[in-house]
Amino acid sequence: MKNYALSIIAVLFVAQCSQSDIEWTKHGLSDAEERFSQLQDINENNVSKLGLAWSFDTNTNRGHETTPIVVDRTMYITAPWSVVYALDAITGDLKWTHDPQVERSWARNACCDVVNRGAAYQNGRVYSATIDGRLIALDAITGDLIWETLTIDKDRPYTITGAPRIIGNKIIIGNGGAELGVRGYITAYDTEDGSELWRFYTVPGDPNLPFESEAVAAAAETWSGGKWWEYGGGGTVWDSMAYDKELNLLYIGTGNGSPWNRYIRSPGGGDNLYLSSIVAINPDNGEYVWHYQTTPGDSWDYTATQHMILTELEINGELRKVIMQAPKNGFFYVVDRTNGELISAENFVPMNWATHVDMETGRPVENPATNYFENPALVTPGPLGGHNWQPMSYSSDTGLVYIPAQETVFVYGNDPDFSYTKGAWNTGSTIELTYLPKDPATLAMVDQATIGYLLAWDPVSQKEVWRAQYKRPWSGGVLSTAGNLVFQGTSDGRFIAYQADSGTSLWEVEIGQGIIAPPITYKIDGIQYIAVQVGYGGAYPLVGGLPSENKNPAKNGRMMVFKLNGEKVEAATKDLIVTTPYLPNLSEEAVIIAKGELEYHEHCQFCHGAGVISGGVLPDLRYLDETSHKTFLGTVLGGMHANTGMAAFKDLLTIEQTENIQAYIVNQARLTGVTTSEASSEQ
Ligand code: CA
Repeated sequence: MKNYALSIIAVLFVAQCSQSDIEWTKHGLSDAEERFSQLQDINENNVSKLGLAWSFDTNTNRGHETTPIVVDRTMYITAPWSVVYALDAITGDLKWTHDPQVERSWARNACCDVVNRGAAYQNGRVYSATIDGRLIALDAITGDLIWETLTIDKDRPYTITGAPRIIGNKIIIGNGGAELGVRGYITAYDTEDGSELWRFYTVPGDPNLPFESEAVAAAAETWSGGKWWEYGGGGTVWDSMAYDKELNLLYIGTGNGSPWNRYIRSPGGGDNLYLSSIVAINPDNGEYVWHYQTTPGDSWDYTATQHMILTELEINGELRKVIMQAPKNGFFYVVDRTNGELISAENFVPMNWATHVDMETGRPVENPATNYFENPALVTPGPLGGHNWQPMSYSSDTGLVYIPAQETVFVYGNDPDFSYTKGAWNTGSTIELTYLPKDPATLAMVDQATIGYLLAWDPVSQKEVWRAQYKRPWSGGVLSTAGNLVFQGTSDGRFIAYQADSGTSLWEVEIGQGIIAPPITYKIDGIQYIAVQVGYGGAYPLVGGLPSENKNPAKNGRMMVFKLNGEKVEAATKDLIVTTPYLPNLSEEAVIIAKGELEYHEHCQFCHGAGVISGGVLPDLRYLDETSHKTFLGTVLGGMHANTGMAAFKDLLTIEQTENIQAYIVNQARLTGVTTSEASSEQ
């Protein structure tokens, strides 16, 4: 009887979903996370006819990073502030919205905007996580909340921006926060009721207390001196995972140390496991199986949380099961995913922190000149990495990995007076002093050196095959398809289709706002769609731009879906806020300005931009109007605008310090040519 009922349901299901429907049901398309689709109705011969099928406005200009999930003709997307939308995948009509009502002031704990990279789906439920640390299960049809569980200790500045992954009856989620100071871990919860099944810590806690696992005890042997557990230690799993069902291994990518500076974190040296590593875990019980550490003793924010792809490659005549990653540190790694053995590693962007990876030891050979213990050092890649979270794609047709690559530089300096400050950034690196070079020649060099490109990389020969050059970093994630196509959105507001084997640009459309999210594709009722969430944001535009930045101020985000012979695309043109800048008569005394500059770069630059140059997402404070200046103390200390995410900073700043910051902001406005009467469209 039960089987009979099930087969009726199956028949109804098949009747509703055309057999040719091919949807996007998992974050990376499959557990291997290759983001390569077999669909080829849209291909190199007809992609020039692509037009808009529908779009959906998210009504916010904060960072948009979602990978949509498409199941049973419904598209599930996440948006800033961890909001989940269910949309009709053919028409874009809104089916339901779930707003988890995150505490807006929690935005202060987010290093890189209140972004979310996507939901997960299984058996009629949609799962997603919130910036304030909750994991939630929703009914896929109605959007009703089924369960919700807090995954973090709210005494520490944890945030969640990543997409959960599902293995059987387990839903797995990590978190972020290593810039401010947290201890990394991932947790598996029961999909049914949200109860905790296991937790894997990536770094040791206080060695005077019992260790949670043998793996953590072994890791503690590689930390020495210092009190890393008071700062947190880091190693957060804030983005990528992959799963090999046959080997029953879950792969996680771990982040940088808390604080960044290893001389403070672990002054006695050591590799500081399992920072900046790929770790293989048994998903049944959360036990460690193997690890490969990309940056032993990381001191540069070189996370290995970047996208990981599983495939098989023929290496020296032998078919190997590999895991591939291009982490922030600039090396492209091919690792045997059965045992963690390094197969090859070559740099995919220029770098000066290491000369190469020694194939005998599997370790990078560091360049002593980038050791910043004695003197500040100019290092490439910088903290934004040679590649950040934006997903890659691996086409088994071309054999190429498509990497959203970038070149960035940064000056790191040792902070000998470092002490942990709750609620502040705790990097142990003097980023408040070295945010942007002061002398014009060095500044021009940094400006020239900060670029981006889409890189087509042969993972077997470890060589570049082609590149599409962009003026600036921070372009979007990548999709490749069997139509010999690669799709990518750019930080300067274009959505582009390239010929996958040659790199020739075949189609390009002006979107009018930056794109950082990865595209996906699906086919329903015989029609193939290409979908991408547009909207600028994330780390790079928050920490600001360079003086010569070709800015593309963020506008309200949109889900944009394309099909052959669709409508003409209208670029977003409306600026969000137009202010009349006002420059009050504040102190121009050099010592006040200098104090304000220091405080600004300790606490404000991470959202409002280095040198008070905004990247276009959050307000450019040089253009504050008269009311904003008159209420400056109320905003910064009193939390007048906490409901927008601008939390009170009265725990970190005094009235005098805040006034100094305001004087510095006004001074910067004057220095960069802003005048009181000038109307602005910069924001
Ligand atoms: Ca980091």
